[in-house]
Amino acid sequence: MTALTGKKGLVVGIANRDSIAWACARALHAAGAEIGATWQDEKARPHVEPLLDEIGASLRLPLDVRDPAQMQALFDAAAARWGRLDFVLHGVAFAPRQDLQGRVVDSSPQGFGLAMDISCHSFIRMARLAEPLMASGGSLMTLSYLGASEVMPQYGIMGPVKAALESATRYLAAELGPSGIRVNAISPGPIATRAASGIAAFDALVADSERRSPISGLGPADVGPLCAFLASDGARAISGCTLFVDGGHHILN
Ligand code: NAD
Repeated sequence: MTALTGKKGLVVGIANRDSIAWACARALHAAGAEIGATWQDEKARPHVEPLLDEIGASLRLPLDVRDPAQMQALFDAAAARWGRLDFVLHGVAFAPRQDLQGRVVDSSPQGFGLAMDISCHSFIRMARLAEPLMASGGSLMTLSYLGASEVMPQYGIMGPVKAALESATRYLAAELGPSGIRVNAISPGPIATRAASGIAAFDALVADSERRSPISGLGPADVGPLCAFLASDGARAISGCTLFVDGGHHILN
């Protein structure tokens, strides 16, 4: 019997074995949870499905968060299979390369809007669909980054987008708390993933973080246990937080 035995939830944002969402899915599974998960498109599917086999994911669907029908279908499938949801992890982010790698001041309205929609408002949409399935409470989690509150080199428009995501986390926590739904953001330090490869000079960002952080050697496996804890009843009174898993980098910026 482990902390998440009997709990059921969704993990969105697995692209491959390096994905932070995959590390979270593994930790949730190891703690006893039953997991539903998604792939973004047919190109991603062959990379994601074998991973879902490993954790026996009982619900598997495509999800591009820009597609309202796919989003609805995912939550309908969870309702049909489980009749409820205990947790949702949102591990999705995107910004067009040109906007991501340029100055914030030069960002296009289209690029900024797309980044905001995929990386931030999709979490709000998921919360709205999860709410009726969390009648007995639940845990909504998203993934942020220190660039939300500090100016980080090369993080560009994802800084303001993550700031909005963290603020949305607080508003959702306030609105959904009375229903027993907790909402938190997990903020890992820099980890080499596919999304991270879109950030210019990402290696330098990792090296800088390693140099500053009291604890070095951060990897996706360091993030999973916090996700599993936040999904558990032990985190009953934790909501509206941005929790850092960055080896302490954020205290020494
Ligand atoms: P990743 O590339 O493995 O994951 C990003 C995911 O977003 C992918 O699964 C991709 O399919 C998904 N995605 C993008 N657009 C989508 C869309 N329209 N519909 C559905 N899914 C879509 O990279 P990652 O680093 O594991 O990123 C996961 C989260 O962690 C992101 O929110 C990222 O900002 C955050 N994060 C990453 C780091 C890091 O250093 N890697 C640090 C802090 C926070």
